Amino acid sequence: DEAKVRYASANPESRKVHETALKVLPGGNTRSAIFYDPYPIAFERGQDVRLWDADGHEYCDFVCEMTAGIYGHSNPVIREAVTRRLDLGWSLGGHSSLEAELARIFSDRFPSMERVRFVNSGTEATTFSVQLARAVTNRPAVLGFDGGYHGGFLAFATKPNPMNVPFEMITGIYNDMEGSAALIDRNASRLACVILEPMMGGGRCIPATREFLSMLREKTRQHGILLIFDEVMTSRLSPGGIQTLTGVIPDLTSLGKYIGGGFSAGAFGGPAEIMDRLDPRRSDALGHSGTFNNNVFTLSAGIAGFKRLYTPDAADKLNARGEALRRRLNQAIEDAGVAMQFTGYGSMMSAHMRSGTIRSPGDAAHANPRLRELFYFDMLAQGFYVSPMRAFVNLALPHSDADCEALVTAVKEFISSRRS
Ligand code: PLP
Repeated sequence: DEAKVRYASANPESRKVHETALKVLPGGNTRSAIFYDPYPIAFERGQDVRLWDADGHEYCDFVCEMTAGIYGHSNPVIREAVTRRLDLGWSLGGHSSLEAELARIFSDRFPSMERVRFVNSGTEATTFSVQLARAVTNRPAVLGFDGGYHGGFLAFATKPNPMNVPFEMITGIYNDMEGSAALIDRNASRLACVILEPMMGGGRCIPATREFLSMLREKTRQHGILLIFDEVMTSRLSPGGIQTLTGVIPDLTSLGKYIGGGFSAGAFGGPAEIMDRLDPRRSDALGHSGTFNNNVFTLSAGIAGFKRLYTPDAADKLNARGEALRRRLNQAIEDAGVAMQFTGYGSMMSAHMRSGTIRSPGDAAHANPRLRELFYFDMLAQGFYVSPMRAFVNLALPHSDADCEALVTAVKEFISSRRS
């Protein structure tokens, strides 16, 4: 509470932005996931990995738009790609060569994506993947994992979510080998697909074990169920996503976040034999439309990003830097002997205010949420923006070694202030 009082007194302009918004937006908000009490910070501008808020404070950004901001703010390469398109017109109402160019990049990088369709968000990518699976298998049910977030219409939790699409949803426990195998066997004839992130991202950076993914691959193949990897966040964790890293190849993959250079983006893909049900020349074609599916800013920014910035070599380097940072953070915590840890892989990690193994969001839920809140406000006061909800930290290409080192020092400071 003290931290919130300090926050409110340091951020009067953000409060004004929030109060104005309250009159026209529910809770003054249009993205529930980034709301927090007493009111969220309002940003004015960003450059590389620096952000400036409405009150003029400067932060080192470790939220990076929840992984969509991998290139940093106002990246000159992305900027040039987009400004070039500004002169050529946009929303031209037809196709361009950009669609196949970006789709080719995906199918070269991600082994499961022989054919690709574009959408406008990760939410659409996962929802269309699931709908496609239901249509091609002619089965109704979808198995996901507790705490699994696949966008605004598809979230798995033991507590029902009235905003979910009305699929028949069955919920398993992440990394639970026996329980999940039994759920699949028991529901096999009704299951169209199993959907999961191969590392839970929004669900607090909890990696799936290779054995768990392999078991799901085997079981789904055995029963004619499609396996969907939601790689909206995790596709950045190697040049070819987690599917390349583990060698477990799903039937369908959904992408989003950074793939459009920081603009609204989503895509899903799979082998021709499944995806070609979307071929409009077929008599049994499934319809899939969207006015902005092929918006030229997203496609141009995405192509420039993959070709010139997030090359396979850059992906490896960024993930190595993330691994080193997480090791440093965990070492500092271990040295201090406090109940805290960072889980994750590569350039994505999340702080948990507890020790011991975390294999599912249920394990993470035991941690003290007040402490996580305190961590957020403390980091903010020290000039670091980490994710308010999940203590999520991720790296962007412009982060330097000095930025990472400064974060480690700030976390050490947080630990020692908790003790005193
Ligand atoms: N899937 C995962 C794993 C996500 O983390 C998100 C967003 O956080 C989505 C899907 C939804 O993407 P979008 O917010 O672009 O709709």
